[in-house]
Amino acid sequence: MPIDKEEVKRRLLQRERELSDEIATFNEDARDSRPSDVEDPIDEVISSQAKAGSFAVSNMASETLLQVRAALQRLEQGDYGICVDCGRPIEEARLNAVPWTPYCRDDQEKHDREREQPGAFESAL
Ligand SMILES: [Zn+2]
Repeated sequence: MPIDKEEVKRRLLQRERELSDEIATFNEDARDSRPSDVEDPIDEVISSQAKAGSFAVSNMASETLLQVRAALQRLEQGDYGICVDCGRPIEEARLNAVPWTPYCRDDQEKHDREREQPGAFESAL
């Protein structure tokens, strides 16, 4: 079945909006939070862990946003759905689950191994 480009574009644009909102919210939160003058070291640890956690979430959102935008670009250029690493078509089920993925499953696994962390892509499938 051929890819419905309009549908893909709609989903990508929607995801782009969601991610932009998420990042904007995080940035506002970061601006609002001031260094606390709590003396309790345990409180400090907990609060810095919470900050690191939301920072990771924001990093992931930024990374996904870049991929969403790149996918929109590929859609315009007409090479959407082609793995940017090996040039083979990306599995249709993969594109349905993660429309902004730039890699086929094999290459995604390769990249995940390089990063030594579970990929956001695989958990979405
Ligand atoms: Zn590939």
